Amino acid sequence: MADPARPTSRELHTDRPHSARVYNYWLGGKDNFPADREVAERVAAAWPGVRTSARENRDFLHRAVRGLVERGVRQFLDVGTGLPLAPNTHEIAQSVDPEARVVYLDNDPMVLAHARALLTGAGGGRIRYVEEDLLHPEKILASAADTLDLGQPVAVLLLAVLHFVPDPRQARALVSRYLEPLPSGSAVVISHGCPESLAPETAQTIAQVYGQSIQGSWASAREIGELFGPVELLDPGVVPVSRWRRPGDFCPPDTDIALYGGVGIKP
Ligand code: SAH
Repeated sequence: MADPARPTSRELHTDRPHSARVYNYWLGGKDNFPADREVAERVAAAWPGVRTSARENRDFLHRAVRGLVERGVRQFLDVGTGLPLAPNTHEIAQSVDPEARVVYLDNDPMVLAHARALLTGAGGGRIRYVEEDLLHPEKILASAADTLDLGQPVAVLLLAVLHFVPDPRQARALVSRYLEPLPSGSAVVISHGCPESLAPETAQTIAQVYGQSIQGSWASAREIGELFGPVELLDPGVVPVSRWRRPGDFCPPDTDIALYGGVGIKP
């Protein structure tokens, strides 16, 4: 078997843009190739807010994870992890509770190749990386069960990933399949592409440029709220990710934010 830590450029499809690497480029990362940079630059030229959106999404992840650990949720399933960019989920969670456990999951071989950076925890908490398609929640939860105690609350993180699931009904069903076997007090964190704060022409241009190479879809704030199903949304509900429990006075303009998100708790 080939060394999974060294996928070939053919396996990585470096000639085609990939969502994890395009996003990495917007965040100022180095784990990307010319095809990724080209599409990332074209979107950024049409709409410079995309970099702010990406950074704000990471900050939302940090605030949501920290807030959940402070509420007593100590286990995380980070679905569609992306390329490592410190602080990652385990670094945030374990900075609050060193025993926090994290299972990372992605289906991109490039993320797998870099997963070692995700697996070095400072505390006593356990961390694992699983390579799988998010479309298989039951299999993923079964595999995560050797790291996470599924009898205790788990937070399922679905940030900037459900918009790659082609059918919104399928995305809703997936969220409920992830939560169904988990106990009361479990959580789901979602962020999703949403054009509501953008000028219609901007939303259209982004969809056009991005959609030429990477399949994705927008959802309205209402549709994003529906993804949560019957879970109880924490205040302030589904909002531009930049606004979710943001401390301090400064907030970037909503017109720079193309992702809406929220945090729900299973009753
Ligand atoms: N959640 C991170 C990264 C978002 S980028 C964050 O918000 O910062 C989207 C990630 O989802 C990429 O790493 C991509 O490889 C992954 N992804 C996309 N479709 C997927 C699928 N069907 N199964 C698993 N991972 C997927």
